[in-house]
Amino acid sequence: MSATKQLKDLDYSVLQQCMHCGMCLPTCPTYVSTKRERNSPRGRIALMRAVADGNLEVGQELADEMNYCLGCLACTTACPAGVDYTTMFETARAETEANPNIGTTKRRLLRFLLLDKVFLYPNRLQFLGHLLRIYQQTGLDEFVRALKLPYLLGKSIGRLEPQAPRMNREFSDECIDTWEHPPEGVARRGKVGVLSGCVQSLAFSDVNRDTVDVLLHNGWSVFTPKSQSCCGSIHAHNGAPGLALKTGENLMNQFEREFFSLDAIITNAGGCGSHLKHYHSLMGTEKARQWDQKVKDIHEFLVETGFEIPGSRGGEKHRLTYHESCHLCHGQGIKQAPREILDALPDCERIELPNSDTCCGSAGIYNVLQPEESARVLDRKLESIKTTGAECVVTSNPGCHLQIQGGLNSLGLPITVDQPVSLLAKAYRESFS
Ligand code: SF4
Ligand code: SF4
Repeated sequence: MSATKQLKDLDYSVLQQCMHCGMCLPTCPTYVSTKRERNSPRGRIALMRAVADGNLEVGQELADEMNYCLGCLACTTACPAGVDYTTMFETARAETEANPNIGTTKRRLLRFLLLDKVFLYPNRLQFLGHLLRIYQQTGLDEFVRALKLPYLLGKSIGRLEPQAPRMNREFSDECIDTWEHPPEGVARRGKVGVLSGCVQSLAFSDVNRDTVDVLLHNGWSVFTPKSQSCCGSIHAHNGAPGLALKTGENLMNQFEREFFSLDAIITNAGGCGSHLKHYHSLMGTEKARQWDQKVKDIHEFLVETGFEIPGSRGGEKHRLTYHESCHLCHGQGIKQAPREILDALPDCERIELPNSDTCCGSAGIYNVLQPEESARVLDRKLESIKTTGAECVVTSNPGCHLQIQGGLNSLGLPITVDQPVSLLAKAYRESFS
């Protein structure tokens, strides 16, 4: 998608794919919440088509509806006509965001600061991560919260402050070397790159470390460039394709010198992976096409290439359940591989989660921008989790991890949240300790 594309520029066949059958309706979280046609995929597609046909102005009505959509893509999996909702959705968001008459000054300023001034620059993001780490690790956050000081900066800041992701003691750049090689005695199989992510690199560097350890254990040499650029998914999903293009190119450049020697480039975040595999549609270059072919989700890569099954430690089995990240299952079509990894863990019993592929309400920054609907969607997810009796919910996206953890904590439920690759790394460490 180019930086200037609008709904009326889309190939018309994309806009008329919908045959109005309604099979997507029960899978759409916002339709389930309101039972209103306009809040369904079919309703949104009708709005977008009306804009393309010149029957509806691009205005607040379209913006509100597109902002209310979680972008979870459950509709694309359910749709028998193969509707390309992603292209329409991202185009509509870009078109509404580019319109200066839509939205408030405060929202535009916040968006400008986040998308243009922070997520575009890995060093600035790291600097903010360092400040947040000091704020959290000195206990200043609890003190400030107890005095309700964030509310002095506004109601929304007061509500959001406790939701800030907890920074790791070490960021990815501090705990992962640029090149790491399998330990002695492990047969070498090749070389892979690892995408450390932006927020993932600061708040889930332990998951990145686990990813590298699992790859090393299975014979892969790992290349992880420092200070990696954001992949641009936050820009693409929030109507800033020009910035998505820029961040994507920056990231590709960081892998350039090793690109042809790498067998794959590994991502462990469902939301990023879905975007990282579609750089060609964003950039249209041969280099981007080769990049798309090389990007693999960690679960898909391990199952495709084979991984060592860890040995059992004996004792009672841990009951766990798996929540699917929307952009892993609907965006990338990867459903079975994470389950295969979990089923290979010797001391765990996996209980299937009802509606495991339904959104948890995190959806990038949706939980920040649409807190009420996000909470409704999360409540339904937590109800499903409770029915399983699991001790641990496993998921593979940082946003889902934080959202579900926050929900479980607020209910005081003693259920932990973890990621498949971390459980596998833990099982390897325990097998060999
Ligand atoms: S992306 Fe999700 S929330 Fe949006 S229309 Fe599709 S199913 Fe509904
Ligand atoms: S399932 Fe597909 S074709 Fe049917 S209404 Fe939904 S988007 Fe349209």
